[in-house]
Amino acid sequence: MEHRSIAIDGPSGAGKSTLAKRLAQELGVFYVDTGAIYRTVGLAARRRGIDPGDGQAVEAMLPQLTITMGYGADGLQRMFLDGEDVTGAIRENEISACASKAAAIPAVRGFLMEMQRRAAREHDVIMDGRDIGTVVLPGAGLKIFLTAAPEERARRRCRELLERGERADFDQVLREVIERDRRDTEREAAPLRQGEDAVLADTTGLDLEGSFQLLLGLVRERLGGKEEQA
Ligand code: C5P
Repeated sequence: MEHRSIAIDGPSGAGKSTLAKRLAQELGVFYVDTGAIYRTVGLAARRRGIDPGDGQAVEAMLPQLTITMGYGADGLQRMFLDGEDVTGAIRENEISACASKAAAIPAVRGFLMEMQRRAAREHDVIMDGRDIGTVVLPGAGLKIFLTAAPEERARRRCRELLERGERADFDQVLREVIERDRRDTEREAAPLRQGEDAVLADTTGLDLEGSFQLLLGLVRERLGGKEEQA
C-alpha cells in the first residue's frame, strides 16, 4: 500500500519541528526531521575541521560518512554519525550555521535525498524541512508552508536557548535568523520557497496551542477525518 505524507516547509524557528512532532503523535504517523539530517553533515564537517561552505571539501567527505536515522523507544527520531548517537550534539547553536552552509551544496542534497524518500516510502510520515513539498515529496497529500515574522522566530529561539541554560542575545539571534533565511532562500539548490500547492500557515501572534490547532484544522479540512488522515 502506498504511504501517505504531509510536508511542512518553512524558515527556521517557525515551530515546524515542535508542531510536526505533536501532529505526528496525534495522527499516529512517523515524524521525519530532515533538518537533523543536514545538521549531521554540518557536524561531521566541523569535527573534521572542514569548512562546511567549501563545496569540494564537503563533497569529498561525503563517501566517508555513514549517516543513519532511527527511532527510539519514545518514538522520536535519533541521528547516528558513523554509529555514534549525535542527536544531542547536532542541536548546538553553532551547528545551525554549519548545516545551512552545507545544505547549499548540491552534492549534499543529492546524497541525503534517498534517505528522506525512503522514509516516506516505508511509513506514513509528517516530514519537515525547506524543500519537502517542492522537491523531496512532490506527491505529498498535504503541503504546509509554516512561517512567522523574523522577530517572533528570534524571540522563540531565545526562549529555547535560555531553557537549555545557554546564553541568548536577542539582537544576535535575530541577525542569525535573518542570515539563515537569506542563505536558505537565496541558494540555487532547492531554495526555501512556498510551493504553489502549499497552504500558508502564519503563526505570528499565535502561541503553541493556537499554532497546533491551526495545523490540525488544516489536516482535518484537507485530508478528512482522523481515520483517513496523513
Ligand atoms: O530545520 P533546521 O533548522 O534544523 O535545519 C538546519 C538547516 O538545514 C537549515 O537552515 C537549512 O539550511 C538546512 N535544511 C535544508 N533542507 C531541509 C532541511 C534543512 O536545506 N529539508
